[in-house]
Amino acid sequence: MLNADLHCHSYVSDGTLAPAELAARAKANGVDLWALTDHDEVGGIAEAREAAAALGLRFVAGVEISVTWAGKTVHIVGLGIDEHDSTLRDGLASVRGGRVLRGREIAAQLARAGIAGAFEGAMQHADNPEMLGRTHFARFLVEAGVRPSVTEVFRDFLVEGKPGFVPHRWATLEQAVGWIRAAGGQAVIAHPGRYPFTDLQRDALIDSFRALGGVGIEVVTGSHTPDQYGTYARVAQQAGLLASRGSDFHGPDESRVDLGALPPLPAGLPAVWHHW
Ligand code: AMP
Ligand code: MN
Ligand code: MN
Ligand code: MN
Repeated sequence: MLNADLHCHSYVSDGTLAPAELAARAKANGVDLWALTDHDEVGGIAEAREAAAALGLRFVAGVEISVTWAGKTVHIVGLGIDEHDSTLRDGLASVRGGRVLRGREIAAQLARAGIAGAFEGAMQHADNPEMLGRTHFARFLVEAGVRPSVTEVFRDFLVEGKPGFVPHRWATLEQAVGWIRAAGGQAVIAHPGRYPFTDLQRDALIDSFRALGGVGIEVVTGSHTPDQYGTYARVAQQAGLLASRGSDFHGPDESRVDLGALPPLPAGLPAVWHHW
């Protein structure tokens, strides 16, 4: 079976490796078909494509767009996009636009919780300042000795109900799917098992997503437990969505699953890459 890994991050968003380093790692790990999907940003695509070509690795241009739906953050992956498309680029720029101000508010909350210097500290970890995000704050909090790992930071900080959580309005579902389609790509719901939705809300999300022209859903991802592979295989089948697979790799020290290291998609599921 094809070892497709269609979800990961470089330091252009909140990963720790360069796009070319990810390409080399994907190749070394036996990936046959690889996508770079930085958050809200396509600045790493050119380097990734070039590095993949030099390695003889099939590459697909991707992006992971931050969306607010029913008051919660949902991520929509775009695959096979033309990263030069101006509708997509303008849309992504508008999503990135609010991140620095949000970062200031996150830092102000952390300061009230007794942690000083978080804005500057997080910025030091953000290679692309426009993409300042919670992961960069988490890395700063580890560096400052507040918690021993990023995982533990996300248990006690930066999430709803904890210090450093700032509600934020991202793109709408309609915008995200629209931008991806304008750029010739396929829209895929990222890590559906991670959202705090009831089954009814999840089905409503999928209905809206399909009505807007979304076609896929991640089934096997580094963000799902093996139990959830089965759950979302059934969801994909029932909804008539194509299945996707991706590690969501962010870096050697932080990710549970390495590039290309996930189990295959459950048998019989039509995959997003089947007709590529
Ligand atoms: P942001 O887009 O700035 O809100 O940051 C979201 C990013 O934070 C995600 O893409 C993950 O990389 C990271 N993140 C969120 N929750 C967790 C968690 N529980 N453990 C590790 N990383 C997380
Ligand atoms: Mn991330
Ligand atoms: Mn995500
Ligand atoms: Mn991701």
